[in-house]
Amino acid sequence: MSVRSLRRAFVLVLVLGIALPFAASCRKAERPAEATLILTGAVVRTMDPGRPLAEAVAATGDRIVYVGDARGAERYRGPATQVVELDGRLVLPAFQDSHVHLVTGGVELGQCDLNDAASPEEVFQRVRDYAAAHPGEPWIVGGGWALPLFPQANPRKEDLDRLVPDRPVCLSSADGHSSWVNSRALALAGITKDTPDPAGGRIERDARSGEPSGTLREAAAGLVERLIPASTPEALQDGLRRGVALAHRFGITSIIEASADERLLETYAALDRRGELGLHVLASLHVDPDKGTAQFPRLSELREKYRVGHLRADAAKIFADGVLESGTAALLEPYLNRPGDRGRPNLEPEAFNALAVALDQAGFQIHIHAIGDRGIRISLDALEAARRANGDHDLRHHIAHLEFIDPADIPRFRKLGVVANFQALWAYPDAYITDLVAPSLGPARSRWLRPIGSVARTGAILAGGSDWSVSSLNPLDAIEVAVTRRGPGEPPGEPWIPEELVDLPTIIAAYTTNGAYLAHDEKSRGSITVGKVADLVVLDRDIFTLPAADIHQAKVLWTIFEGRAVYRAAASGTSRPSL
Ligand SMILES: [Zn+2]
Repeated sequence: MSVRSLRRAFVLVLVLGIALPFAASCRKAERPAEATLILTGAVVRTMDPGRPLAEAVAATGDRIVYVGDARGAERYRGPATQVVELDGRLVLPAFQDSHVHLVTGGVELGQCDLNDAASPEEVFQRVRDYAAAHPGEPWIVGGGWALPLFPQANPRKEDLDRLVPDRPVCLSSADGHSSWVNSRALALAGITKDTPDPAGGRIERDARSGEPSGTLREAAAGLVERLIPASTPEALQDGLRRGVALAHRFGITSIIEASADERLLETYAALDRRGELGLHVLASLHVDPDKGTAQFPRLSELREKYRVGHLRADAAKIFADGVLESGTAALLEPYLNRPGDRGRPNLEPEAFNALAVALDQAGFQIHIHAIGDRGIRISLDALEAARRANGDHDLRHHIAHLEFIDPADIPRFRKLGVVANFQALWAYPDAYITDLVAPSLGPARSRWLRPIGSVARTGAILAGGSDWSVSSLNPLDAIEVAVTRRGPGEPPGEPWIPEELVDLPTIIAAYTTNGAYLAHDEKSRGSITVGKVADLVVLDRDIFTLPAADIHQAKVLWTIFEGRAVYRAAASGTSRPSL
């Protein structure tokens, strides 16, 4: 056979292979292409105003090809289609977490993990157990301890000395803004009672002796952290694998990485090259507040280099201030428990404005960490300066955390087109608020803690994020708190600052459509719409018809990324097709 006739025979086989089953099973010629996946018999809440509710979704490859009733979906069914009968379960667009530290959070899971330890004794026990289980590690590193567990949020070096006398220890707090160290670590770092507080940091000290007591705030933690051997690329990739697995378990297929350097970007890229990422990632490049525009060539280089696969690094992250619970957030009026102390922003307004104008001009989306009312005000001022200088480039700058907003600044988000990136899980009175924050602000100012409802009512765009590993990665926990202003799992009752409640569609939008908008991906994802990427989550119950206090109990059954299941819950007796 000649090459040509061989090719002809091959084409004929191909045509027959496709046409025969097609002809056998279909009556009409205009039958659409066979879907790879059909979810049917579901409550599909599309988040698309054009068709908010449906019964079925069909996808071919990574794209949604059909949204509608179950009967219509049958037309997409072919011999190779996987059809999942969902028995009234809920399908939503997969979630986006718009502020998360997925690599470092995952690395932390493999270290001395103190997250959710409920008492100082439990913290001590975990440190003791970890040190015993890892006799070869030169440093004991980890974190996740809750600040309210210790007097003045200030755990002591002596406790760590008792637990680990022979090796240096450095354990970051759950909010990531404090580190607890032992005497060995202080000695290696050369920190004594004569060491001055570094710029942007505080060494906690004994009131009497002036000796460092074991807790380092903000930049002071860097004095010890710089001595810790850096994680290897393999350790970072293992950490990210753990982070990705957890994200998929909670229905997340898109993230905004809150603060990335090149090592983190390389970690995301490495997993993506192997097809293991399973997430759309927008990384926010860490900006050094002291280096100004001198670091721009480097930032631009990273942005170009890491525009690959499912990764982009088009955003720049600025830390405007610290945190309220340890008195490092920048306030307009002093902390009541620190006479005369208003906290300090990391950048003075003039430098902040100049940096924002320059980043905006260079085409970076600006992602700001701001928590205190002054930190938030100077952030809005800087974004306003950028808009005044450069006009509106549709870069969609955003401010994350927004814990304490002066009411005068609430309308400015809408006015300036600044996306309000809330961590709604923090919007109930936990021990951080009752024991540390509210007493330091007093009742009148505390009214303006986590004012999500007020910002939403102005028409500003809300995004949602976990700040994991600071707090739970599960969006359903945060979604419940947004609509109850009570802790997840607390029985129904009086909401905390009821004016700041939002409704369920508003907060779901923050994790879906608005997240996609924030990532400049609203044309390709964020809602269940024909032509968009098939990023979907299936929940075991419809959270729109549940009592609000039960939302956190809903479980993710499947997480689908680009038409392919990346997570399936363990079987619980229902039909469980293999996706
Ligand atoms: Zn963060």
